[in-house]
Formats: sequence, structure tokens, C-alpha cells
Amino acid sequence: MTMNFLEERIQRDGIVKEGNVLKVDSFLNHQMDVTLFRQMGEEWKRRFADVTITKILTIEASGIGIACVASEYFNVPVVFAKKSKSINIEGDMYIAQVESFTHKNINQVIVSKKFLSSDDHVLIIDDFLANGCALQGLISIVSQAGASVAGIGIAVEKGFQSGGQIIRNLGYRLESLAIVDGMDAATGQITFRDQN
Ligand code: 5GP
Repeated sequence: MTMNFLEERIQRDGIVKEGNVLKVDSFLNHQMDVTLFRQMGEEWKRRFADVTITKILTIEASGIGIACVASEYFNVPVVFAKKSKSINIEGDMYIAQVESFTHKNINQVIVSKKFLSSDDHVLIIDDFLANGCALQGLISIVSQAGASVAGIGIAVEKGFQSGGQIIRNLGYRLESLAIVDGMDAATGQITFRDQN
């Protein structure tokens, strides 16, 4: 199997942690390799070339960098859902509940009604797909706006967790640049799904 640029980078610099966590903080979600982000943006543009997209939606914090760089290829604004602990939300917000895979807590995420409307065709972008909670929250916000989900671009999907299958079964067009089908914390071994 030939690996693409992201799979190669994960193979080289990704670290498998206990609890099904893949650490990619040296290039994706702490230190950021913006040249790699450009390749990701270019690849999503290639995969979604036939789709009308008017806005990119992501979630703070780790989605923001990749979504911003991707937006250069789509020439549309980026909106990020904000995590908010306060129950007292000033009106005019779309709100969804998202359970965090990494922190195991529940966050309220909000997007101002000013920035998503029923005219929008939304490309959702995020760094990871595990159980799909983050994506379900973002999809809920798009449907509250009466907008349509034009597609979903994920950097790293953990294919052995349920999110990818759930989202594809719902009929969404999901393009993950790398799908990890197995990883072993003891040996550090990572196996990818062949997407060709
Ligand atoms: P989900 O909501 O699909 O269960 O998890 C997606 C969110 O959890 C992502 O936005 C990402 O921030 C975080 N996440 C899930 N799995 C991993 C992982 O293996 N490594 C890292 N670094 N983040 C993850």
C-alpha cells in the first residue's frame, strides 16, 4: 500500500497513547506544520471540487488552523463553534451539546445566528473523528440554521471507532485524509485503511 502525505507524516511523527489516543501534537494540533495544512487544503479542494461551498465550519480549538488554511483554497469564510460553559447564553445563538472524547466532559458549543443562514452550503472541517460527537454537534448547528452540509473533511479518522460509520450511514459525504484502522500503544504500530 502506498501512503499519502498525511499517512506518511502520522507514521513518522504520530505517537500512540493508551486509551485509543493518537498524539499528533508535533505537527497538527499543538505545533502546526502549515505547509502540511496547505497540502490538506489542496487535497480537500480536489475531493470537493464538484461541490458548492459557501462557508467552512469548524470547532475550537484544533480545527481552526486547518480550517483557515483550507479556506484559502475554497475562498469562503471560516466560522468556528465556540465552547461555552455558561448556561446563560445571550440569544441569537445556535447551540449544541458535545461530549469531548479527549476530556470526557460535555461542552456547549455555540455559533451566532449572524454567521450561518439557510442559504449556506457548509463544509465542516475538523482534525479528528473518533466517536463522532463533535461532528454531530456541528451537523446539528448547520441544520438549526436551515443550511445544508455540503461535505465533511477530516484530517485523521480513527476507523476502529464508531464515528465514521455513523456519519457515512447518515448519508454525509465524508472525506478523511487518513483513516487509522488500528494502533497499538505497546509497539507504536499504526495501520491505515487503503483508500485507493
Ligand atoms: P469525537 O467527537 O469524534 O468522539 O472526537 C473528536 C474530537 O476529539 C476531535 O475534535 C479531537 O479534538 C478529539 N480527539 C478524538 N480522538 C483523538 C485522538 O486520538 N487524538 C487527539 N489528539 N484528539 C482526538
